Amino acid sequence: MDTPIPAAGRDFIRQIIDADLAAGKHVNVVTRFPPEPNGYLHIGHAKAICLNFGLAAEFGSQVPARCHLRFDDTNPEKEEQEYIDAIEADVRWLGFDWGEHLYHASDYFQKLYDYSEELIQQGLAYVDDQSAEEIRATRGTLTEPGTDSPWRNRSVEENLDLFRRMRAGEFADGSRVLRGRIDMASPNLNMRDPALWRIRRAPHPRTGDAWLIYPMYDFTHPLSDALEYITHSICTLEFENHRPLYDWAVDNVSVPCKPRQIEFARLNLSYTVMSKRKLLFLVKEGHVDGWDDPRMPTLSGLRRRGYTPEAIRDFCERIGVAKRDSMVDVQLLEHCLREDLNRRAQRRMAVVDPLPLSIENWEEGRVDWLEAVNNPEDASAGTRQVPFTGELFIEREDFVEDPPKKWFRLSPGAEVRLRWGYLFTCTQVVKDAQGRVERLVGRIDPESRGGNAPDGRKVKGTIHWVSAAHALDAEVRLYEHLFALEKPGADRDFLEDINPHSLKCVTHCKLEAALAEATPELPVQFERLGYFVRDSRAPGLVFNRTVTLRDTWAKEAVKG
Ligand code: ATP
Ligand code: MG
Repeated sequence: MDTPIPAAGRDFIRQIIDADLAAGKHVNVVTRFPPEPNGYLHIGHAKAICLNFGLAAEFGSQVPARCHLRFDDTNPEKEEQEYIDAIEADVRWLGFDWGEHLYHASDYFQKLYDYSEELIQQGLAYVDDQSAEEIRATRGTLTEPGTDSPWRNRSVEENLDLFRRMRAGEFADGSRVLRGRIDMASPNLNMRDPALWRIRRAPHPRTGDAWLIYPMYDFTHPLSDALEYITHSICTLEFENHRPLYDWAVDNVSVPCKPRQIEFARLNLSYTVMSKRKLLFLVKEGHVDGWDDPRMPTLSGLRRRGYTPEAIRDFCERIGVAKRDSMVDVQLLEHCLREDLNRRAQRRMAVVDPLPLSIENWEEGRVDWLEAVNNPEDASAGTRQVPFTGELFIEREDFVEDPPKKWFRLSPGAEVRLRWGYLFTCTQVVKDAQGRVERLVGRIDPESRGGNAPDGRKVKGTIHWVSAAHALDAEVRLYEHLFALEKPGADRDFLEDINPHSLKCVTHCKLEAALAEATPELPVQFERLGYFVRDSRAPGLVFNRTVTLRDTWAKEAVKG
């Protein structure tokens, strides 16, 4: 696995743009992010978004620069308004703004149609009557050339007539296609007379019934770029061998400019799948609770989980861009998240697995309001008052009857600090009929308010607690990776690699009363337990654990 190192110099894309500007090839920089609205955006898209919008922002200090948001909506059967809305919301949430530059490939259908007639006029496109199967069967292989369609040498007039009638709806779905007339013997299969338009009677979310022929992606994409005066069309490596077709399209029709396609390596993340087809399957088959399930790598899932846009942007910056495919450790993403949350999140006390604790030497009904620091990393976050009483809850795992060596938390006779409060010694363990610990009883040192012993004796352990009378009852959802293997589906169906323990719902957790005001937008740290955020969907008090406190990535990075 690669450990990404922050790019020391400028990556190859920035170098290309630097050189183009220096040579006077361009006087501005125009990029675009071109999602197909057939699913929700994921962390891989975030890499492309940060890159394209980031370039526009960076070069904007030098030359006029902008980044477009363009929906590549050429496949009406798979596309939905829900996805369009979610994509816009997610790009904005990540912190980017396309201003007035929102476009849809479907706005260009008429222009693409006109360009296709230009191709026909030049003998560079023809209507093929073969079925999809026949076309596939005559395409050849990597070692064998394809065979010409019997319709390849139709006259310009016949092609124009047939293409116009395709558009007018005279022919059945799938009965004809318009193909580029390029080279059936090309070593690049994409150049073997690729389909440019197909007949499909499907209503489109934006053009409705206006069109019943639809342009293919490989044809639409370059011409849309050209129509928008994109200077650098940045896409992922799988399009590298589509580039000749990209160039063919912009070279052979009267578009106003010729954008340059540049490919970079897509993001692959361990323990994660990023194919929209697989993510859709997880949603449709109910393996997760929707596209925004907090275990999903979608931006809406990460947001619901408690990720911040800052953490995701930091991650995208650190991984950089390269020409070679690699796998990024998901722990790096979590590391970026912890760094951001550590600065941002207010601390609160919460007990996930409550064990009652009674203080013998506390007067009945007395409440002490203790001062607690909201964020030790940020003085401006201030302090709050936390109620301390004679009946508390502590975390069950903070007590053991028979402590191992170096156990600094609670055990019979041992003294610990109750965070922000008093020093406490356990004097009695109350058990139920099964022998399970039911309650602890003990005494505080009344002189130790604030947590320090009056005689200066050392107390190593500090544990968190909440006052039973003031506690809020809540559900807490603890997550692990959605997949149990680093590369899900590497050598079997990816569903078999789903982690059966990816979600644990814990009810009757006890929270500090201040958490009643928690919102899904404000991350909090439950002291000693991790970062949490209030769930944006569930009614009542439900919290998602965003990430634990333990940063294994940082540790491994130090080890080298
Ligand atoms: P598909 O085309 O299979 O539906 P896709 O993930 O490529 O899925 P698009 O909507 O076409 O989805 O992606 C929009 C943009 O995001 C494209 O430019 C694509 O290259 C980029 N992109 C998609 N996945 C990643 C990834 N894992 N890492 C970086 N960029 C990505
Ligand atoms: Mg794609």
